Amino acid sequence: ELTTIYAITPTYSRAVQKAELTRLANTFRQVPRFHWIVVEDSSARTELVLRFLARSGVPYTHLHIPTPKRYKRAGLPRATEQRNAGLAWLRLHRSPRDSGVVFFADDDNTYSLELFDEMRTTRMVSVWPVGLVGGRRYERPLVDKGRVVGWYTGWRADRQFAIDMAGFAVSLRIILANPKAVFKRRGSQPGMQESDFLKQITQVQDLEPKAQNCTRVLVWHTRTEKVNLGNEPKHRQDTVQIEV
Ligand code: UDP
Ligand code: MN
Repeated sequence: ELTTIYAITPTYSRAVQKAELTRLANTFRQVPRFHWIVVEDSSARTELVLRFLARSGVPYTHLHIPTPKRYKRAGLPRATEQRNAGLAWLRLHRSPRDSGVVFFADDDNTYSLELFDEMRTTRMVSVWPVGLVGGRRYERPLVDKGRVVGWYTGWRADRQFAIDMAGFAVSLRIILANPKAVFKRRGSQPGMQESDFLKQITQVQDLEPKAQNCTRVLVWHTRTEKVNLGNEPKHRQDTVQIEV
């Protein structure tokens, strides 16, 4: 019996949102035993995402929680409340008898199908390299004799877990056994969210290296260029309303 993979995706309304979600769904649809937890950063579920998910062909749960306005600022961590809402849903709707792996899948990254084969065997917390992140071609956990012994990173190497959100997965059992483990706003700088979270549930020496001892890049921290809407009409709108 295959373990279910739960991917928690925070997402927010913007011009490229449906394009990003389409790219994700095209990947996730091909992953067996997959459950997509989509958490909108909004005060209500939007029509666009409601319709999108209903047609996506991916098993899903659709949640929403708005980021408090005071946290919507450059230089502050993003999607803290949304990721925690995904965790809260799992804690409420899943029990230790359900076997699962939890992964945080931002809506703009690029995911290889092989990544899901790797993370599915997670027993506690597994880790792997992430491409195009931290000002480098990739970051990765350094592995010696099957154990993580350090981090290849170009940014804040002093982090206990110097890893991007896309670089780890946690077994559902560990999420349920640590009901207080959450992403923190207070005292958490951007880029420290991952480390602060992982500290609450594991230790570096217990991490399980995946992707050939962390030597293969199976996920990329891609970022989508801001779209140019400089030629949107101010007066003569189109004769039909089209969702983009
Ligand atoms: N996000 C969100 N609300 C925001 C900004 C971002 O829910 O106000 C989501 C976004 O859709 C993505 C995740 O949070 O899934 C990380 O955001 P982003 O990709 O902008 O961060 P970065 O790539 O800079 O780490
Ligand atoms: Mn991103």
